[in-house]
Amino acid sequence: MVGLTDDSSSWQSSAPLRHAASSAPQASRMLRHHGDLVLSTSVPPIVEFDTDLLESVSAAMCEVMYANQGVGLAANQIGLALRLFVYDIGTGCRTIVNPEILESHGETVDVEGCLSVPGLGCEIVRAEYVKLSAVDISGVPEIVEATGFEARVFQHETDHLNGLLLLDRLDPDTREMAERFLAQRVGAEGGDE
Ligand SMILES: [Zn+2]
Repeated sequence: MVGLTDDSSSWQSSAPLRHAASSAPQASRMLRHHGDLVLSTSVPPIVEFDTDLLESVSAAMCEVMYANQGVGLAANQIGLALRLFVYDIGTGCRTIVNPEILESHGETVDVEGCLSVPGLGCEIVRAEYVKLSAVDISGVPEIVEATGFEARVFQHETDHLNGLLLLDRLDPDTREMAERFLAQRVGAEGGDE
């Protein structure tokens, strides 16, 4: 069962609004939106680990995520070809580098939104549990497991790094409705974002 709603707020974080007032307009401009080639291109793993650089990139990405009330952000959403994402499900901003899904099981449906597809909320089927291989920002391998909402965030952000948007997870009819909704929305706003 897949449905559409024009309210993606349930996917967005209500808590971390602390940076929103000052930096939201600038951070919004950094975001790449659906239709941008960078979002449909798979991002290769990071092989050179400049820890200072990755720390500053992660911190900047967290700022953008908070400023836009998101709960996750992949590097290619701000045009960076780095295989990493940041997320915060209420326990602080964390960085996952070079994620690959090793195992998944179970099934759950919930409404997701995406900072790169603003205004749209879609019911998306995801695995209830995932196990990721990843590395920390120094390049040390780690295994990360998650269930429920955290697992959903991991799948959504890993999709980004594999060049997939939530639109790509919709059945053809729902996707067509979603594309129409987005086209009308852009038309109504008179913009091209
Ligand atoms: Zn997204």
